[in-house]
Amino acid sequence: MTHVTRFAPSPTGRLHVGNIRTALHNWMLAKQSGGRFLLRIDDTDAERSREDYVEAIRADLEWLGLEPDGEARQSQRLALYERAFAALREAGRVYPCYETQQELELKRKIRLGRGLPPIYDRGALELGEAERASKEAEGIAPHWRFQLDHTAPITWDDGVRGPQKFDPAQLSDPVIRRADGSWLYMLPSAVDDLDMGITQVLRGEDHVSNTAVQIQMFTALIAEQDGAGQMPGFAHEALLVGAEGKLSKRLGSLGCDAFRERGFEPQAIVALLARLGTSLPVEPIADRAVLLESFDLATFGRAPARFDDAELERINAALVHQMDYAAVAERLPEGMDEAGWHAIRPNLSRVSEADEWWRLVTGPIDTRAFSDEDRAYLAEAVRSLAWGDDPWRALTATLKETTGRKGKPLFLPLRQALTGMDHGPDMGELLPLIGETRARERLEQAAQG
Ligand code: GLU
Repeated sequence: MTHVTRFAPSPTGRLHVGNIRTALHNWMLAKQSGGRFLLRIDDTDAERSREDYVEAIRADLEWLGLEPDGEARQSQRLALYERAFAALREAGRVYPCYETQQELELKRKIRLGRGLPPIYDRGALELGEAERASKEAEGIAPHWRFQLDHTAPITWDDGVRGPQKFDPAQLSDPVIRRADGSWLYMLPSAVDDLDMGITQVLRGEDHVSNTAVQIQMFTALIAEQDGAGQMPGFAHEALLVGAEGKLSKRLGSLGCDAFRERGFEPQAIVALLARLGTSLPVEPIADRAVLLESFDLATFGRAPARFDDAELERINAALVHQMDYAAVAERLPEGMDEAGWHAIRPNLSRVSEADEWWRLVTGPIDTRAFSDEDRAYLAEAVRSLAWGDDPWRALTATLKETTGRKGKPLFLPLRQALTGMDHGPDMGELLPLIGETRARERLEQAAQG
């Protein structure tokens, strides 16, 4: 089946790692089937929605390589919701309510006190024509609820959670529209999913009970369209938690900016989030085709997925080690060519660390204090230095012969003299980059102490 999926953020803040994961999985579901991934900006809340967040959402998706195949904005689709509302009202599925927040809160408390579920008691359905008229005459504008059909259980086969069953009598009739005419999330989302031909709604499990309610909306809307339109499938993924296993505040604010600042590659975030919480191993896979091939909702677990920074570090480093020069060239220090990248790459956990390592080539390097014995050895190295195809091999082979040194005493003083460090890139690759002149200078300087 060719899937049409959507990612539907409200532009009331930046995307966090949980949103990014949902976006990625929707992208994967669509792309795997050769389908379409749509971005829907849920901006019906004019007060809290901000244009800079809309732009940030687009930029984040682009940085992650999850460009949508289309974009819709709820604020431009209000006429559609108006029509659906009118049709549902006509069909008797929408009713006006006049309770204030305080009244509702009181009702809730009373029900809870009686050991009843704190759902709406449908008091407004009891109002007669005259009572409604008198409320309106008092200047009380109604808010509107969708009337759930209590006659049959709501069921669906969830793509992650398996068969689901809800008793609609245990759910509140949801408020779909405020007294000022503005829309709550529930109805516009169902209208859009239907209108945009969404085949699979994949979102966090915090939306499971919304799905139950929306399924009845879909059914009612499809009936109003004389059967036109197709109810999407539903899948709810387990939430993302911190490494300590709890829903963490930190994750709620961890987004692309922070990832970028910390030098993580978008591929690393994608590779990690693609498989986190699934039964597939998290691996440093840069090739999206490979990730897509194995993507399967059936591998998703019900337990919360644990996001661990250390795992992201590990994946990032492994991916950096595989990255081609062309992919990183413009982020590398001046003068660092392909051979330089290859020599230094295995030492990096982030591309940005290339600067630091490249200084080993261009200098200045840290000077070290050597023992008399090592200084004599390094003076011998200056005399032995010959430049050919593989100067490091030639140098160490000669020194082994002439000084009888081997292992660490043979290699370490040379590395220290040539780079100022005890460890680092492979010297066989590094020495040709340092070049004969600089190598000779460094060895001479070390020998002189
Ligand atoms: N705007 C909703 C949210 O951010 C969308 C949920 C959905 O995917 O339907 O929670």
